[in-house]
Amino acid sequence: MIVTQEEYMSRLFKLGAGAAVVGAVHILTLLLGWYVEVDEGRVLTLTGYSFFESFLFSTVGGLIAGLGLLIAYTLKKVYHVKNVLGGLATVGGSLAIASPLYTYVFRINALGLKGYPDIGMFIAIFTSLIQFTVGLIILLTPIKQEVVLPTEFELPPTLPETYTVPPATTRRREVARIIQAEDVEEGICTICYYPLSREDAVKCSACGALFHRDCIDAWVSINHICPGCKAYVYE
Ligand SMILES: [Zn+2]
Ligand SMILES: [Zn+2]
Repeated sequence: MIVTQEEYMSRLFKLGAGAAVVGAVHILTLLLGWYVEVDEGRVLTLTGYSFFESFLFSTVGGLIAGLGLLIAYTLKKVYHVKNVLGGLATVGGSLAIASPLYTYVFRINALGLKGYPDIGMFIAIFTSLIQFTVGLIILLTPIKQEVVLPTEFELPPTLPETYTVPPATTRRREVARIIQAEDVEEGICTICYYPLSREDAVKCSACGALFHRDCIDAWVSINHICPGCKAYVYE
């Protein structure tokens, strides 16, 4: 499947935002019961934040995905956005996974608690796994660099050798010249879609469409019609 860089970028940001939201939900599970201690008829619910290491791991792990999103907004290159969003979501997800695991495997044994895990711990595991997986998806999605031309873009038609431009009286077509575009600071060539520099930028006198000098020369040599406005271009 071919996607433009912009589409790919917005997909990355959607995934990154998803990871950040899941990270935030993960932090909220600290407020829920993580473990129910049953001791001689006494039932006590322990919240996530009552385990210090889990409080630390979950808070940091959950926040990192959001931090990644903030940093990614300041970046321009797809490659950097992908690595920051994916990398931080994955690292945060790992920390978040470590949080309930650490509590369940080590802390509860060390404290000699008897009981069973509560709903909060399950949601914490679930959300941390999602965050980690989304991070991996971002990291492993290959970058597509293809640029798709808009559908209305027409390739120059191949004209017969004997092609002559009909006289102006029979064709009510505007006429235009290709002139220097010195006032251009930046722009995109209407033919090749690559950026223009001030030195090689020229434009159509009728519609102002910008081209590289070489691009429009090649175009005009086979088709005397401006690709921007269809005016007849005379040299
Ligand atoms: Zn060009
Ligand atoms: Zn034009």
